[in-house]
Amino acid sequence: MGEHSVRIRKAAGSSPATSTRSPIDLCEVKATVKDLLCDGFQETVDECLIRHRSILDIMSKLTESAGRVNRAVSKAVTTCGCIQVEADRQRIPPELDSLELLKSHMSTHLKGKLCDHCVEVLEDEIGRNLFYLAALCNLMGLSLHDILVKEQERIACLGMFNFS
Ligand SMILES: [Zn+2]
Repeated sequence: MGEHSVRIRKAAGSSPATSTRSPIDLCEVKATVKDLLCDGFQETVDECLIRHRSILDIMSKLTESAGRVNRAVSKAVTTCGCIQVEADRQRIPPELDSLELLKSHMSTHLKGKLCDHCVEVLEDEIGRNLFYLAALCNLMGLSLHDILVKEQERIACLGMFNFS
């Protein structure tokens, strides 16, 4: 996480005031991620979104783009064939007494590995979905960064009890 953030900072260029500081402390890394990824993304989306600024357009585009994410996965199975879905009932051994062990017995029902083409298509569709998610946040005055932090804290608190 830290290394990734530092790489982003270098790629985007850093001001002399911050680049002389070493090592980069955790607060600065967190601020960098917030500024460059979440806030920057929301600002860029706001600047780019011209045609579909209505909340009604954004709501329908968000749903449509989520459908296209699923379609990209389906196409990887049915058209490309780089991955397969082999599904049947989840079989949990009755003697299992630990939640940690339960995870290893739950099947994803997925076989194979996405090829480069399908990775590209899926990434594009997820990107579009994120675009409209950010656009919705903009209209509602919400911060993607704050939502991510809140959700991460919630998941961390629930731990293994988060069954959803
Ligand atoms: Zn493929």
